[in-house]
Amino acid sequence: MMQQTEMIEKAKRAIEALNPGGPFNIMEVCGSHTMAISKFGLRQLLPKNIRLISGPGCPVCVTAQNEIDSVVELANRNVVIATFGDLIRVPGSKSSLQLERAAGKEVKVFYSPLDALKYAEGNPSKEVVFIGIGFETTVPTVAVTIKEAKEKNIKNYSVYCLHKTMPEALRALLEGGSNVQGFLLPGHVSAITGSKIYEFIPKEFGVGGVISGFEAMDILMSIIMLLKNYKNPAIEIQYKRVVRKEGNLEAQKIIDEIFEPCDSIWRGLGKIKGSGLRIKDKYKDFDAAVKFDIKPIGEEIEIKGCRCGDVLKGSIYPNECPLFERACTPENPVGPCMVSSEGSCAAFYKYGA
Ligand code: SF4
Repeated sequence: MMQQTEMIEKAKRAIEALNPGGPFNIMEVCGSHTMAISKFGLRQLLPKNIRLISGPGCPVCVTAQNEIDSVVELANRNVVIATFGDLIRVPGSKSSLQLERAAGKEVKVFYSPLDALKYAEGNPSKEVVFIGIGFETTVPTVAVTIKEAKEKNIKNYSVYCLHKTMPEALRALLEGGSNVQGFLLPGHVSAITGSKIYEFIPKEFGVGGVISGFEAMDILMSIIMLLKNYKNPAIEIQYKRVVRKEGNLEAQKIIDEIFEPCDSIWRGLGKIKGSGLRIKDKYKDFDAAVKFDIKPIGEEIEIKGCRCGDVLKGSIYPNECPLFERACTPENPVGPCMVSSEGSCAAFYKYGA
């Protein structure tokens, strides 16, 4: 059987043979790909003109500054904030969930929204608000909690919905004149959505994409597929062991039952039409924005000096931010791309540029 190192060497030679010569920027739009690329040192294996750049694929990173401010506001409404771990360290304009927790507010970290629902069920005197962030990957489980809360008549559970969906963000990037020649498309998101949602990319923008797995060889094979189809861009699936063209129909069904599209603010990309999800009226009793009368998210606010927005558009590498490794480190993060365990800045810091 061929050794992993031999396979990597072979893939490297194939990439060199397919090298189109001019600039070829490949954008990954998944935090797990961002970490894998840095961890396996894949950038260093490629010819100089083939660059791997990060896009808006880390859920914590794309959560906008004013969305964090709204979550902090909620924490001050005598509720228990239930959230994923990375979000609590993301700084808002004046505070963060971590600071609010230190000041005595109830902020609890859960690995799954189902655990948050269970906590609400076991503590009926407390109002529990789950902060719904992330893409199509996490949405079905959050939808299940809302459906279950309604069925069981759990009145002290609600979701503050900040979910975002991937295709409209890719469209916004491309319409903004992004210098991308190919996409490494997210494996986990696509397991839910399937590949059809990306078909507009080659059709309307002449750019190809490959839905990739997360091992070094998966990513190298995906790069080879992108290079092979450079002149006839298409959407292909490399991660066939998990992703099907039609996606997970059951998961899509529950998403459609609970949520509907809405506009959403993305860090670095601003407001993108139809790129978010809101809870349908039928389930509004479980919508924290309605229950606690949270005002709609305004225009995007930027953190002074932090260039997360440019990192998330693939305009710069993290080490081109003047604060990288100086004022901004994982111990003292200035922006979410350094906070999140899937952020580009955290990946560059951990594994080197
Ligand atoms: Fe933002 Fe820090 Fe990354 Fe600079 S290094 S872009 S300040 S997170």
